[in-house]
Amino acid sequence: MRWQAVIGLEVHAQLATASKLFCGCAVTAGESPNTRVCPVCLGLPGALPVLNGGAVDLAVLAALALGCDVQPVSVFARKNYFYPDLPKGYQITQHDRPLALGGALEWSGAGTRVRVGIERLHLEEDAGKSLHAGFGDEAGRTGLDFNRSGVPLVEIVTRPDLRSPADAAACFERLREALVEVGVTTGNMEEGHLRCDANVSLRPPGDASFGIPVEVKNLNSFRYLRHALEHEVARQAAVLGGHGRVERETRLWDVEAGETVPMRSKEEAHDYRFFPEPDLPPLVLAAERVAALRARLAELPEARRQRLAASFGLPEALARQIGNDRAASAYFEAAVRGGAPPREAAHWITGEVARLLNERSEGFASVPVQPEALARLLAEVEAATISGSVAKEVFARMWETGDSAAAIIARERLGRIDDESRLEGIVREVVRANPKAVSQYRAGKRLAFGFFVGQVMKATGGQADPAVVTRLLARELDRS
Ligand code: ADP
Ligand code: MG
Ligand code: ZN
Repeated sequence: MRWQAVIGLEVHAQLATASKLFCGCAVTAGESPNTRVCPVCLGLPGALPVLNGGAVDLAVLAALALGCDVQPVSVFARKNYFYPDLPKGYQITQHDRPLALGGALEWSGAGTRVRVGIERLHLEEDAGKSLHAGFGDEAGRTGLDFNRSGVPLVEIVTRPDLRSPADAAACFERLREALVEVGVTTGNMEEGHLRCDANVSLRPPGDASFGIPVEVKNLNSFRYLRHALEHEVARQAAVLGGHGRVERETRLWDVEAGETVPMRSKEEAHDYRFFPEPDLPPLVLAAERVAALRARLAELPEARRQRLAASFGLPEALARQIGNDRAASAYFEAAVRGGAPPREAAHWITGEVARLLNERSEGFASVPVQPEALARLLAEVEAATISGSVAKEVFARMWETGDSAAAIIARERLGRIDDESRLEGIVREVVRANPKAVSQYRAGKRLAFGFFVGQVMKATGGQADPAVVTRLLARELDRS
């Protein structure tokens, strides 16, 4: 039988602050171990945490970007467990009163709309890091680096609304995109600034209740997430198909082996003995502070893509290509305000402009041609002063020189040639130089006509007015 997958994600995003969540230590990567530490983040007795207001602002921005209800009061809690990289013996997090509740992420993919509810969003501190390699001795020692201890994170928990590994990967991508856009996190996954755990269960399609979920930890790329879930779905289907029971457990994705492997079972699950953090007061957020942050919120890529498609009538693929990139969207909108026809502008931006940027490995923020100047170039094409292929040449010159389209067209005599006496000579020359094609044409092979048009266009660098060329060629060829 075929099963339906039920998936929910838990995503940790590192907040883009300069300092840690409860102390003034710098958040930096690549420093020597234990050079960004103090009594607070080392968990020394008597050291007291002080909440980083900038981290709170970023967490609120994240919550607002996802449409969550920011709670006027949230409470920090201690999550107790023993692990060498956790110097205090507990992690400060938020438990039964998180920073934000509710919200949703929505996107359209493969023709359908996907909506994933957000369960909660809360602030917490990161742990340190165990270093198993690099000690240069045979004793198998493990080192501990606390530079990361106390780095601010938000944890975002989705509802179990996802129904396929592909949707889960798309959800993770959309989430990253939204958080990066509003400046909450760098989203750098190699650096571990964004990490994902996935919970997955199977049920017979049509069943209202959920099956037993398995948690797969540390799926830190879109591909791993998708592959791990595909594998885990197949594994559970095989267990259920053989009338076995799926155990509630935590598994890890083994990249090398390409399979999930058990990490701990329910019996080994931690009892975290959560209790409110006595060293921190409840976090009270004034409505004005939340409103001010809401005003700072950038438009999200998904909303932008929808808006570009709806208000400029762009086809889905073009709207997506431009809307993905905030600077490209701004460029496009400025060109349209400057009078460019939206579709034409969109084709140029995803075509010629993107091509020239690619060659230089640069982004849309550094296009040297003002969007209004592109609009004026497109007006020249619209007015048939120049052809599309000449326009590309003109654009390349504009890029190099900073001159206007009109100046370049005039200076380099690139305007369309519709002067009959000038074209007549070229047409005669082309006809004279191709006697074989002429006899073919006269013997009834009408297709040869296109060949002559092409030759004339080539001879004029694409500048000849095709209507005039057609008329002159017909006259020349049809006279016998
Ligand atoms: P826990 O308290 O064990 O962490 P939660 O209820 O907080 O469990 O859920 C954690 C994650 O697991 C959420 O993303 C949620 O959507 C997902 N989840 C919960 N139940 C199921 C289930 N039966 N199948 C798949 N995912 C689930
Ligand atoms: Mg959980
Ligand atoms: Zn510190």
